[in-house]
Amino acid sequence: TRAEALAEAALERAQALQERLNAFITLTPERAREAARAADEHRRAGNISLLSGIPIAHKDLFCTKGVRTTAASRMLAEFVPPYDAFVVERLAQAGAVSLGKTNLDEFAMGSANEHSHFGPCRNPWDTDRIAGGSSGGSAAAVAAGIVPVATGTDTGGSVRQPAAMCGVTGIKPSYGRVSRYGIIAYASSLDQAGVIARSAEDCALALTAIEGFDPRDSTSLERPVEDHAAALAAADGRLDGLRLGLPREFFAVEGLDADVRRAVEEAARTYEALGARLVEVSLPRAELAIPAYYVIAPAEASSNLARYDGVRYGYRAPAYTDLDDMYRKTRAQGFGEEVKRRILVGTYVLSHGYYDAYYLQAQKLRRLIAEDYARAFASCDLLLAPTAPTTAWRLGEKGQDPVQEYLQDIYTIGANLAGLPALSHPCGFDAAGLPIGCQLIGPYLAETRLLLAAHVFQ
Ligand code: GLN
Repeated sequence: TRAEALAEAALERAQALQERLNAFITLTPERAREAARAADEHRRAGNISLLSGIPIAHKDLFCTKGVRTTAASRMLAEFVPPYDAFVVERLAQAGAVSLGKTNLDEFAMGSANEHSHFGPCRNPWDTDRIAGGSSGGSAAAVAAGIVPVATGTDTGGSVRQPAAMCGVTGIKPSYGRVSRYGIIAYASSLDQAGVIARSAEDCALALTAIEGFDPRDSTSLERPVEDHAAALAAADGRLDGLRLGLPREFFAVEGLDADVRRAVEEAARTYEALGARLVEVSLPRAELAIPAYYVIAPAEASSNLARYDGVRYGYRAPAYTDLDDMYRKTRAQGFGEEVKRRILVGTYVLSHGYYDAYYLQAQKLRRLIAEDYARAFASCDLLLAPTAPTTAWRLGEKGQDPVQEYLQDIYTIGANLAGLPALSHPCGFDAAGLPIGCQLIGPYLAETRLLLAAHVFQ
């Protein structure tokens, strides 16, 4: 009954905090109890994995069989998938007990979790502030002590940035490392699943469970999986010989908060004291990551979201005159403001006459940005940077100007454009007592190295 008792306590906490935080879109207490009973039975039969009976939560972008999966959109508010996402399947097989589905920005588009059809998620450290986005509900649920681990997706920072804003640890693995099967698509060439937890050690455990080849995702890697948790267990508490690169351009960003800069620089000195060697590196095209990303991501989104036509599944406008009118009303009513903005931008940059000037140009920039990272890794093993330029802002503060919100992604989107693994871990607090995140970015498939560094730091 150990797992049952754990599930009961976690459900109680989730329900008690729901009104304050709005971290969940759907809670599934009956399913959680059932999974917990099964985990207890497995344990009695002698089958135990470290995740067996552990309460978790899934970002509501992962399809869950028989449980509505909304993407925080009116378009999918009633959508009940007939299958589980790969990540959901894997964690269930490991015995983890899902409490339900967490809040996010609609279709994962946003950096604050304010663009949700179900209302914003609030930051447990200060409920007048954003939890970060798009995986805000998962980060808030972990930070509030509801679950020790939750899943997220990261297209441009959506695992790392909310983890930073909520004072927890989050990792986005290399592109292709975790199957995207069953994740509602936003920008397919950038989307990756990740995990958010209270420590690098817990991240390692959960990440190991979800990695691996999946033939149902054509970009899934056929490479053996590393046991990250075992690698961490063998750590000796030192990082001797590790070369940590500090990208010059990242620390020159206008808008980098003084407290954030101080905390990240202090983290660098702590790494130094643990044996790491600090080296200055350059990412000359760092500034161009935002314009490149905000062309490529909307372009892919406009294509991915074309499927919501009111015919196949999802919302359909109740009244219309003909087929065109049905499409128009369905999409006008089903999508929120930010999603519509991205679809319009996406169709514009892909349209005849603008394709070369915008989309093709952005693709070229993407390659140059990836080359910058590759060059930086010639002189260091990991990059150290802020996760976001500021701590959590007040709800509504940046709502008026979408560009203000886009600029918050300056430190995170490079890793997505280049397909690299990256992690955010807490490194202190600002003057208002809000958590600050420090980011480590690694070369392709260096997940263990990232987790190990953060683990030794913690
Ligand atoms: N903030 C970025 C965006 O709005 C990234 C979101 C994400 O990683 N899903 O696109």
